[in-house]
Amino acid sequence: MTILFIEDDTIESMKLNRTAAKLPEKHNIIQAKNGEEALEILNGPTQLPDIIFLDLNMPRMNGIEFLQILKKDPELKYLPTIILTTSQNRADLLECYRNGIAGYIIKPLKYEDYEDKIQKVIAYWEINELVKA
Ligand SMILES: [Mg+2]
Repeated sequence: MTILFIEDDTIESMKLNRTAAKLPEKHNIIQAKNGEEALEILNGPTQLPDIIFLDLNMPRMNGIEFLQILKKDPELKYLPTIILTTSQNRADLLECYRNGIAGYIIKPLKYEDYEDKIQKVIAYWEINELVKA
């Protein structure tokens, strides 16, 4: 799968790449540091990703702002978007579901737990029919 990973923290990016590299299937991970950069990628010439992993807390354009723009776009609104955050804030959770997210994952602190959760999420999306733009 091609995964667009929107995250401002470099350590988090390293964690995701390391986790994905351990999987038997190879995944193409495209990275964006914030919502603005992600929109540039999505509106650019490259093929659309299969799924999006989205952080909430980011400078310039945060996750919820990005999500609101994404879900208003006639083409981009179909992209399954999974929140990957440390925010346990219920208002954030509700706002994200209201904006049509495909999942809300709290990043575990322990690396082994993180790896376990992420691998399950990727495995789940792999058995789904994807939009394929
Ligand atoms: Mg962040």
